[in-house]
Amino acid sequence: MTGSNLQDNKIDPLTKAREILRNYPLCDHCLGRLFAKMGLELGNDERGKAIKTLLAMQLHVEHRNGKIDREELRKYAINAGDPITRLYAKIYDEEIKANKCYVCGNKISREYFNKHAEKIYRMLKEYDASTFLIGVSLPQEVSLRELEVASNLNLETSESIKNEIKREVGKIIKKKYGLEPDFTYPDVVVIINYSDETLNVIINPLLFHGVYWKRGRNISHTIWISRSGVKEYPYSIEEFLNDNLNKIFDSEKIIHHASGREDVDARMLGTGRPIVVEVKKPKRRKVSLEELNKILHKQLIEVCLTGKSSHSVIEYLKGEGSKKTKIYKLLFYTEKPLEEPIIRKLELELKNRIINQRTPTRILRRKKDYLRKKRVYEVKIKKIHGQVYEALIKCDGGLYVKELVHCDNGRTSPCFSEILKMGAYPIELDVIGVEVDGYINVEKCYEYVHQS
Ligand SMILES: [Zn+2]
Repeated sequence: MTGSNLQDNKIDPLTKAREILRNYPLCDHCLGRLFAKMGLELGNDERGKAIKTLLAMQLHVEHRNGKIDREELRKYAINAGDPITRLYAKIYDEEIKANKCYVCGNKISREYFNKHAEKIYRMLKEYDASTFLIGVSLPQEVSLRELEVASNLNLETSESIKNEIKREVGKIIKKKYGLEPDFTYPDVVVIINYSDETLNVIINPLLFHGVYWKRGRNISHTIWISRSGVKEYPYSIEEFLNDNLNKIFDSEKIIHHASGREDVDARMLGTGRPIVVEVKKPKRRKVSLEELNKILHKQLIEVCLTGKSSHSVIEYLKGEGSKKTKIYKLLFYTEKPLEEPIIRKLELELKNRIINQRTPTRILRRKKDYLRKKRVYEVKIKKIHGQVYEALIKCDGGLYVKELVHCDNGRTSPCFSEILKMGAYPIELDVIGVEVDGYINVEKCYEYVHQS
């Protein structure tokens, strides 16, 4: 036996059980549970039955020696039931019926466990679950009765009724049906309502991480409905995922979590952007990554999934991950053609430069106004045609790049217009690089995309 607080000189199950059974009717399970931490690989009913058997033997001897009378023996028989009722019937030729268990009202039994295990298994199968966790919702009055009995004797050896139900039902599901309990992230959590014996089920979402590419413009992340109730953009990543994956997972819906997001009119090319795809309430869980990637390998939007994910990856993508370095390719034009020296000046002045940026005017309606400081690491400029130029910009995530060009009425500084001393205007923007650390194996995606 483990547990340092269980001092063996204090534990005499028979004496304690005798005290309890004199006052409370208890079934084998509820009696045995008071001594659950004694002995391994035993059911509480086995413990309870063994103690009652020993007690019957003890009472028999005492009765024979005249130490207890009929009334006393009757008390134990009524509270403990078999085998003391058998002993009593043999001695006094009177059948007596035992009282119902004070804690469970005779609800707990092997049949009870089996019945629930089967019901739960059918439910787990319906949701294609391989792992599960069982919970029990117990009415307060049962907990109180249980505590009352246990506290009467200051027993440190007992376990709760909840625990017994969870463990025994879980054991049957594992042994009989081969499904595994998982205490950290089970596919499905089933709660047994003790009072009415119904089941509540919580289906954990499936999470996958990977990257996405958006090779067209005017594609939003989520379906964007305007105030007048009209769809603002023809297509979204959300629709792409739901259109392609809902059917295969037989799921309620698919949502996604990305590490930052590009403007609706910007494309996401190059490395792609890290993403976690969350499949809500799937009825099919065993789908291979190969199968998924084949489905998601499309032209306009493409998603490549590299593995099962977790909530900590979502947290990372939304937090630290979103601050990682980004690389943009931006087309812009200027009021007048730029001479070579001024281009070099622009590049030099923005090298490793902190940019002060207030929330852009265009999004002030949705986001609160504050000053952010972001670093531009490098800007490379190439003339395309006439007054049109291409800039490659490497900077901290979270910098609004269009504003870096046109200055947003001085709300972003320094910026292209300010350094060039003339108007500079962004035409098109592409994100071509999003830095990720070990969380997502991007290399695997590149291999995949290049192969096919
Ligand atoms: Zn009971």
